[in-house]
Amino acid sequence: MFIDSHCHLDRLKLEEFDNNLDNVVNAALAEQVNTLLCVSVTLEDFPAMAEQTAHYENVWLTCGAHPLNQGDEIDAEQLALLANNSRVIAIGETGLDYFYAPETKPVQLDSFRKHVRVANQLKKPLIIHTRDAQADTLAILREEQAENVGGILHCFTETWEMAEQAIAMGFYISFSGIVTFKNASALREVAKKVPADRFLIETDSPYLAPVPHRGKQNQPAYVVEVAKHLASIRGTSVAEIARQSSENFHRLFPQTKA
Ligand SMILES: [Zn+2]
Ligand SMILES: [Zn+2]
Repeated sequence: MFIDSHCHLDRLKLEEFDNNLDNVVNAALAEQVNTLLCVSVTLEDFPAMAEQTAHYENVWLTCGAHPLNQGDEIDAEQLALLANNSRVIAIGETGLDYFYAPETKPVQLDSFRKHVRVANQLKKPLIIHTRDAQADTLAILREEQAENVGGILHCFTETWEMAEQAIAMGFYISFSGIVTFKNASALREVAKKVPADRFLIETDSPYLAPVPHRGKQNQPAYVVEVAKHLASIRGTSVAEIARQSSENFHRLFPQTKA
């Protein structure tokens, strides 16, 4: 059994699936991908996402605003209100992305800080998006005592040094289809080093389809390809990757254990 620890079900183009999200969830189940974490990227879209996925017992939610979706300043009270729901098991995705939007740094920093505070207030782990912002990401996590809740550095593409420091603060490192890309040899070295009790797998679907599905719309069923590549990188079996990553997910989110 596999867990897709990060997908955006409300961003899928459903035309490919007969306009029915059931077909996406069933395609995942057919590959034994039986738990999904559906990640929020704006507070405005959160209620619709929650409603769209309400009838799936195996789909859990996060609540937050992506660092690249910063329109107005984030309202921490609104975030806490929306996230105070038993189906919401984490806060995010939040974090810093200086690769795509260095000009929005101040807004990103403010939003990130507020997310960490709400996570501590609600005692829910964080889903962190971090790109080209290692020092600031780690600094905020430290200053705001994120180690009280821990969480996930999702779609990880940064250095081993960063992974190591985040792991020391109780974070998990999640690998996406990027580990299957030809030019990702540095990342594969990181994926080799992460301790067995600290890694997770994700699709980040509909984005970043793994090899051999490049160019297609990504979907949770494809997390199996991430697991296959991780197995060969780490010199273990796919079954062992599935077991370890699922165990890790349930340790971080005990309420998801059936
Ligand atoms: Zn992200
Ligand atoms: Zn995402």
